Amino acid sequence: MTKAANLTKSTNVVKKPKILLLTTGGTITMVKDSEKGLVPCSQADSLIQRIPEISQLAEMDLLPLANIDSSNVLPSLWLDISEALYERWDDYDGFVVTHGTDTLSYTSAAISFLLQELNKPIVITGSQVPLEEIGSDGRANLINAFRVAISDIAETVVVFGSLIIRGTRAKKTSAFDLQAFTSANVLPLGSIGLSIRYESGKRCRSRRKPLFQPFLNESVAMISVFPGLKPEVLGFLAEKYSGIVLEGYGAGNIPTEGLSLVPVIQASVEKGIPVVVCTQCLFGSTEMELYQVGRVALEAGAIPAMDMTPETTFVKLMWVLGQTHDLKTVESMMRKSFLGELHEGG
Ligand code: ASP
Repeated sequence: MTKAANLTKSTNVVKKPKILLLTTGGTITMVKDSEKGLVPCSQADSLIQRIPEISQLAEMDLLPLANIDSSNVLPSLWLDISEALYERWDDYDGFVVTHGTDTLSYTSAAISFLLQELNKPIVITGSQVPLEEIGSDGRANLINAFRVAISDIAETVVVFGSLIIRGTRAKKTSAFDLQAFTSANVLPLGSIGLSIRYESGKRCRSRRKPLFQPFLNESVAMISVFPGLKPEVLGFLAEKYSGIVLEGYGAGNIPTEGLSLVPVIQASVEKGIPVVVCTQCLFGSTEMELYQVGRVALEAGAIPAMDMTPETTFVKLMWVLGQTHDLKTVESMMRKSFLGELHEGG
């Protein structure tokens, strides 16, 4: 080959985008142990290295940050992930995070609040079946996560099955289906089929600087209302934690007779402990004015979570309480949409 031809060849080489893959464990990199069941694989990285398509899409660096079953996640890991990404922000065109599905939606919400104003994507994925096993969804999920990570989107998203879901709207709705996650109360940001299609309304890449907001008050409790819930359980939580998320019935209703929770909500609020009520339904919003059993909770000082998922409500309350304990400010921040996590006024 002539010198000139060589030159043409080298100038034609298109540089692949650089993507950082941060791994935290989860089924995707688990293996079956005959005695223990599915456990994190000690060579998680080598499982991922065996997917050649990734190198066709991007130049990848791997950062193993944790290797846990995500049922063991602690809020401190959310800070670690966000910090690790923020420290390396300028070195990459996008980020992929692998995570267990059980608590993935808590983590996706947390990263969304901790790192805002993104100018490139953070894509979180995992799988229902380990990469090692026949029929695994891990390979497709990971490849699709990379496809999204090199696209124009600039948000924290969950890529799972055929859906691209905003990080604050992801909800694990199936312990069986390969389409394990749903976009709660909003359309997904996009879908993956023959090609990748985005809905309008996604944030696109830009020159803005991301905002790292490492505020997290880990002292938040969450409990579902159930018939027979003793008010003293809530009282106990209000002694031990700085904020409480109460998963109410339907439109955010709570018991007000018999084992009424109203006095304990009022006492908690008077002590400066916010009580945020979300719905235990899969879809829909709190409408606490609708029934007397919601109204009295509002009058006692409860804050409605509107159409936020319990996971997002819980993480957002941690993030808000990391910044303020002033109840008025807590309420106005909980009611405000920072990242499309709720429909304001909804
Ligand atoms: N228990 C696993 C985890 O969350 C489930 C999964 O990844 O699908 O780590």
